[in-house]
Parts: sequence; structure tokens; C-alpha cells
Amino acid sequence: MFYNNNLLVNEVVMSDFTRHARTHTCGQLRAADEGKEVTLVGWVHRRRDHGGLVFVDLRDRFGVTQVVLNPQIDAAAHELAHALRAEFILQARGKVSHRPAGTVNEKLDTGEIEVYADHAQIISQSKTPPFVIEEGETPSEAVKLKYRYLEMRRGPLARALEMRHRVCMAARRYLDALGFLEVETPMLTKSTPEGARDFLAPSRLSPGKFFALPQSPQLFKQLLMVGGMDRYFQIVKCFRDEDLRADRQPEFTQIDMEMSFVDEEEVRRVCEGLIGEMFMAARAIKLDTPFPLISYADAMNRFGVDRPDLRFGMELAGVSALAAQCEFKVFKDALAGGGAVRGMAVPGGAAFSRKDLEDITNEAIQLGAKGLAWIKVTGEGYQSPIAKFFQTATLDGIREALGAGAGDLMVFVADSVKAGYAVLGALRLSLGHRLGLIDGAKLNFVWVVDFPLLEYDEEEKRYVALHHPFTSPKLEDIALFDTDPGKMRARAYDLVLNGSEIGGGSIRIHQREVQDMMFRALSIGPDEAREKFGFLLEAFEFGAPPHGGIAFGLDRICAILTGAESIRDVIAFPKTQKGACLLTDAPSEVAPRQLKELGLKRDLS
Ligand code: ASP
Repeated sequence: MFYNNNLLVNEVVMSDFTRHARTHTCGQLRAADEGKEVTLVGWVHRRRDHGGLVFVDLRDRFGVTQVVLNPQIDAAAHELAHALRAEFILQARGKVSHRPAGTVNEKLDTGEIEVYADHAQIISQSKTPPFVIEEGETPSEAVKLKYRYLEMRRGPLARALEMRHRVCMAARRYLDALGFLEVETPMLTKSTPEGARDFLAPSRLSPGKFFALPQSPQLFKQLLMVGGMDRYFQIVKCFRDEDLRADRQPEFTQIDMEMSFVDEEEVRRVCEGLIGEMFMAARAIKLDTPFPLISYADAMNRFGVDRPDLRFGMELAGVSALAAQCEFKVFKDALAGGGAVRGMAVPGGAAFSRKDLEDITNEAIQLGAKGLAWIKVTGEGYQSPIAKFFQTATLDGIREALGAGAGDLMVFVADSVKAGYAVLGALRLSLGHRLGLIDGAKLNFVWVVDFPLLEYDEEEKRYVALHHPFTSPKLEDIALFDTDPGKMRARAYDLVLNGSEIGGGSIRIHQREVQDMMFRALSIGPDEAREKFGFLLEAFEFGAPPHGGIAFGLDRICAILTGAESIRDVIAFPKTQKGACLLTDAPSEVAPRQLKELGLKRDLS
């Protein structure tokens, strides 16, 4: 049976007062239903005694309806009305009446009517809940997670889950219409190459061997393309055993896609349509497409990050050449050590107090800077403890490079190029928020393209793939495999919304020889490649189509769509920051017998 606010359920079948049956949901009745005999069932939201009558707000996922009980009818009715407590489930049959003038509740969809019960029964009792099931209440995060099913009865989580459902349905409809097939890929599989730690599942039937839970269906979706499936998608759980920084979950959901015979442009067009449908379904927002592109290099130089928030300016600029002309030792030393001086203009920052300046300096230090140099631009000139080390013409040049005007503050980091990006990129964001420069209503989408293919890992002393080892280099860069692999660019693209990466993917390598070159560049020897990915390499020898794809982070997209602070708020049963489930108390010990069957021994030394 499908209940919906707009759908009258079959009243003939349902109007009988049977146990657990209802004719309408608690969000359905309107003034036009006046006079109807109805049966409702729902949770007791609130109960008010009003001189002889008891008013009950009956609640379900669809809404709240006011039911009026008359304890004076008979002893049973009296007993029932007084036994009712919050979160009991009550079933009530009665007539829909228009509320008396002056008592209409405009805030409620059902606020014009009430139901006078002539028959009612308690279907289920409830202990006193650990928090009041009200919208305004804010129970602690731990209590909300432990009693997730009660949290679900409050409005926000239920609405978020409903919205998530609509977003998924819109995605499925759209992709289906474009000829995509939703194909399930294994959850018990071999380690995949997304670079995080795997969750492992020991095999009982092959003692000493393990499955890995997929970090993504990457290899399988590529095999689906070799298998001629042509267009694949899956709304799929992925697992990454990472230290849970920021807002991450050990299991999360991707909208995963792969297409054959496409280039970057075609993938982007399909994705823009997909995101457009999802935003339309969730928020009735029509997006402007195509989304603009920004190169990785541009994003780093101008915003310090590879997922720039373009809702506001405050761009960074390199000023090393000008800084080289000054006498300020910190700048000179950084440049002599092969570093760079990079800065940005903070609008209105000339008005910052000493304390403000101390605060942002400390923030920069926490972000990894050795310090933060600053110069105020005032109507009279420059004001700063370091201004004396600069000629005015140099300061004018720097001001111009940063686009600073009178009233602004110029801040600088002198450090390695990487550290400069990291510190200023993060500082830009936090100042943008603090100074109210970010319009919360704006949706700013941008594709980041032209990523480097490889990144040098100083610790491991070898190149690692920036995306993953199956991402194709740009064809014109292939010769660099032998000469300068660090300079190679990838056929990869990330979709960024308001400074969050919401999706990323690439055109893949589909030729065995190129894949071999890639492994060589990553110092993955032939044996290791065969052992880890031999099945994919072999598949490439049987007519592999050119292909490419992407994966979107569904949780993050839904969090943005609902304005949620955390992806936890759009996941039915999320884990804590420490990766635990407070509701089921997982992870938990297992019986020694289970370990024995798996041939495992505990060693907590
Ligand atoms: N497998 C990649 C990921 O999970 C996405 C892709 O390249 O399609 O990040």
C-alpha cells in the first residue's frame, strides 16, 4: 500500500475499523474532507487536556492531525484519554470537522480540520523517550545516534531521507533514459586502487585469505565496459578505512558511472544533466549548464586548493619577483631556499585590530605557516611593522598584484610553494566565512581539469597516481613517461560545488601497453601488476573499448542540498567520528568460535 499526502487510499477497503488500519495518513486531511468518517493511526505527538476534552496531535511521517477525544463518553474512553503518553501509537476513528473559527492552525497543512473520535485504541505503548520528539529540540549527537529511530521521528532527518530518496529516483530515471544499466558489483572482492586502507573480510573456506570490501567498483565497472555493457551506473556503498578526518564515513554511497566510446566533454554533459535532474528533484532549482572549467594549475595559483570555492573573490597571487626586491629577511630567506612568497588582499582588513591580526596569524600558524606577514593599505599609504623593508614602488606593485585597495589588508606567506597554497587556501576560506563574503544561497559549480597524472611521494620516493592508476594521461603527454613523468597531465575531471568535491573521474587507459607504462611510472613491477590487476590487464587484450566515467559522492550532495552540517544528517544509520555505530554497538567482539572457524587469532599486544 502506498500512502501519500496527495493520494486518498482506497476508502472502501480501509474504512472498516480494523486493527492497524488507517484510511488516511496524518498529513492528508483538508477542509474539503469535512464530514468524512476516517480512521487515523499515529504517534501521540502532544496531548492537551482542555476542560473535559483531550486534544491529541497525532503524528506520522506525513504530518500531524488533531484528534479530539471525549473522555466523558464512557469509562473506557476516559481511561484511554488519561493513559495516553507521548509516543504511544493511537488509532482513532471519527468524523472530520472544520475547526471552530479562531482555532485554525495555519502552520499545519491539516490545520483547518480536526477529527472527533468516536472510537480509539492504543496500538502500542512507549517508554518516556530520551528526548522530546520536537523539531526545535537538539539532543546531543551521541543520543541522536543511539536512538536513531526516535531521531527519525523528528522532522529534519525524515525530510532528509525523503529528499535523498527523491534525488536517487531522479538519478535512476535520468540515467535509465540515457541507456545506462544499473549493475551490481561484488562487495566481497579484491583490494581496489583508490589509495585508502581496505576493510578486510577473512575467508573461512580459504583459510588465511581475505576479501576486501570495495573502496569503489572501479575495476569492475571497467570490466563491464570490456563486456560491452556500454553505459553502467550503480548507487553503491563504498568502504574506506581511513582515519576519519573532517566529515567522512567509513562506508559511504557513490553514484558510480562508466561509459564507452566517450571523451571528457561527453562525460561532463551527461553529468551536468544528471546533477541538474537531482537538484530539480530536491529543490526545484534549475542549474545553469554547462558548468565552467578551471585548470588544476589555475585553481591552485588563484585559490590555493584543487576544489576552489568560487562564490567569492579574495584570490591569491604570487609576488616572489617583487618580494625579491625587499630587505625583509623572512621573505629573502624563503626565496633563497627555493620557496615562494604568495599573498592575498583581505577586503576591509585594514580595520582589523591588533587582536584580529594576532588571531589570523595564529590561525595561519596552526595551518602550518611559520608566520603571517601583513601590510595594511590605508588612505595615507602602507602601515605595517615590515613596511620599512620595502620601497614604496615595490609595495605599489604588490598592492596591484593582489588587487588591494585602500581599506584592505594584504597578508603573505613565505614558504614552500605547497605550504603557501595550503595556508592561504584555508585562510581564504575561513576569512571568507568570517567576513560574510560567501553568499550561502549561491550554488557555484566548476569542473577542475588538467590535473597532473602523477604526484611525487617524498616518503615513498616514487610517483603515485593523483586519481588512480587507470586514469589515462593526455595523449599529447604520453612521450613524457620516459622523460618527465611529473609533468604529465591526466584526462581527469573533478566536479566542485561551493568548494566541496562532489564527484571525480577520468577517461581511462584502455590499452595494455599504456597501462604497462603507467605501472612502470608508479614503480609497480610486472609481478605486482599481474598479481593485483592481472584480470584487468588480460581483459584489455580482448578488444577493450575506450571508456571513461566518474563517481559522485551522494552523501555530500544530499548534505549540500539539505544545508546539513554533516553527511551524518543525510544517512539513516551513520557512524560516529570514530567509526562506531552507537545504535548496534558495532564494531564488537566476536565469539572465540567464530575466530577459530576463520583460522584467526587475536593478538592485541
Ligand atoms: N573510482 C573513482 C573514485 O571512487 C571514481 C572514478 O574514477 O570513476 O573516486
